[in-house]
Parts: sequence; structure tokens; C-alpha cells
Amino acid sequence: MTEPARITIPTEPVGSIPRPPELIRKLAEVDSDDPALAPLYEGAIRDTIERFEATGSPVVTDGEQKKYHNFLTYCVHGLPNTSPDGFKIPFSDGHTRRMLRLTRGPFRYLRYADSYLDVAMRHAHVPVKQTVISPSALSLMYPAEGIPDYPREQFIEDLLHEHETEIRRCLQKGAYKVQIDFTEGRLAVKIDSSGQLLDSFIDLNNLALSRFSPEERKPIGIHTCPGGDFHATHSAEVDYADLLPRFFELKAGNFYVALACEQDRPRVLKIIRKHLKPNQNIFVGVIAPNRPGIESAEEVRDRVLEASEYIPIEQLGTTDDCGFAPFSDDTSTSRDAAFAKIRARVLGTALAENLIGGSSS
Ligand SMILES: [Zn+2]
Repeated sequence: MTEPARITIPTEPVGSIPRPPELIRKLAEVDSDDPALAPLYEGAIRDTIERFEATGSPVVTDGEQKKYHNFLTYCVHGLPNTSPDGFKIPFSDGHTRRMLRLTRGPFRYLRYADSYLDVAMRHAHVPVKQTVISPSALSLMYPAEGIPDYPREQFIEDLLHEHETEIRRCLQKGAYKVQIDFTEGRLAVKIDSSGQLLDSFIDLNNLALSRFSPEERKPIGIHTCPGGDFHATHSAEVDYADLLPRFFELKAGNFYVALACEQDRPRVLKIIRKHLKPNQNIFVGVIAPNRPGIESAEEVRDRVLEASEYIPIEQLGTTDDCGFAPFSDDTSTSRDAAFAKIRARVLGTALAENLIGGSSS
């Protein structure tokens, strides 16, 4: 008698976990590289990974504890050739976040994300995933009026070089996956409904991804969401039909798509089914970090079963819709709530896996 092939549904976090209150308090007083922060960072990372592993999550992150101030500008924060009056991101509750503006060339990162991985891997007993920011997001740092003696073409070349370097360093250090955060994809459709801005973002990110071989791209992923900060979003009203067809043209191996918060999930799943390519894995969001209640494992299970009706099971995985605190001072979700939600994702995915695995013989 032969056993039916066991079905596995991979499950991964997106990235961030709310920082401990004492770290947030200290961050309000001193800058990211202040030595006074070192023990707080170390404690926060150790505690995050311990609690992450306790949820049963087969893949963890460091919760982006050290990404100061956020997932967007961690690599350039502190550069002398920037000013704080860059691109403004408006959120649905009226608050805004601001990027840095480049004031002169050349463009270089001040730090690469693999420095976070070094610390995380010292503590972790399971595979560690690392997130990095997309070239398209950082391209917004270059001012519309240009920079004397530093043309945009040279900036883009330097940006692509830095991004490629960051990903290669993460992969070389053993990151299980490297996920490129592309939250500005959906925002691009809101800013420019003609789709031209989105097209330019996709083209730029594909220029970067083209620097990797098809084999190297297998552990590289890309994340889309409507933004998440203090339980508000920046582009939830944008129809996925205007984003996803182009999104799946990105030359990545893994796609992390916010889905739990969508009003009409079957409609989105149909769009995904139509545009997903055979060599692409999709991780659908089954947890809503933006919503206060904790999902039950059964709720998650049902979302996975629903997704499995549209997506080939060998390409399907689960994730959270977004990080739980992409900006380091976001206190809208507690650490307890974030880990409870992650536990529900892990348990619910396993429940679905058993049901689907059991019925296929
Ligand atoms: Zn996100």
C-alpha cells in the first residue's frame, strides 16, 4: 500500500513585529546608531525570535527590530547627502509619512540588510527570511528637478548596484528567502491611474531582478499590499485588477499578496489564477494585521481552502497581509496580538494542509 504524497503548504511572515515599548521610547530620544540602543536592540531581537519560534512558524524574521525608522529608509537613514523633505505618503486616516530626498550624488546605501541577518541567525533555530526595500521605492528619493552633475541615469545605475549587492549579501549569508517590499506598487496606481508610474516601477524592479539568474531568483520574493501604518492604509481603494496583471510580470520566484483584507477575495483569486505563471509561488495573506481581532485557526483554514479552489496547490502558500509594524514607532498592534495572529496563521495553514492532503489520494 502506498501512502498518498504529503501535501505541504508553506507559510511565511511578511516581516515586521511591533517593537518593545522600551525600545520605542529610547528611539524617540536618540538616533539609530547610538550605542545606548545596542542592548535594547539585542534584547528585542532575541525576544522576537524566541516568541516567533514559539508560534511554530517554520520561517521567522528578526521582526525588523533594527530597521530604523522603517522598512523604506533603513538603508539610507543618516546619509549626509539627504534631506527629510522627500516623497510624502498619505494614509487613509489623514496622517502622512515622508521619505528622504537625495541632495547630491553619488547614491550609496549606508547599511545593507544582511547586517540584520547576522544577528538574527545567531539566535534562530529555524530558517530566517530577510526583507529589503525595492529599487522603485528608493527611486522616489531622486528629485523631479534633477541634481546638478548627477543625472538620473547615473542615480538609477548606482541604485541598482546597491540593491543587487544587498540581495546577494543576504543570500550569501543564508537567508531562506529575500523579500523585496513593493508596497508602492499599489500606491502607484492611485497616484497615476494611467498605469505609467506602475509600468516604470515594474520595469525598474525587473532591471534589478534581471541581474540574477533564474536559479538565483528562486528564493527571491516580492510583496504587495495597500500599506499599513497605525491601522490605516495608503491604497486599499485601488482595484487589484489594475495592479496584479503587471505584478506577476516581475521576475521573482515568490509573490506575497495581501488578501485577507480584500472585500471580494474570490474575485481577487480569479485575477491571480489568470495571471500567475507556472514558475511562480504565491503566498496569500490570511491574516489582517490592520484589524484588531485575532483570527481563529478555523478562519485561516477556510481562507486557505478558498484559495486552493483557485490556485494550484503546489504553488500555494500563506502569509500575513503585511508586516505588523512597518514603521518603528507604530504601536497600533501589541506584540502579544501580533504573535497570536501568527500562531493562528501557522495552525490554520496546518489544518488546511491536513484536509487537502487527506482528501487527495
Ligand atoms: Zn506590506
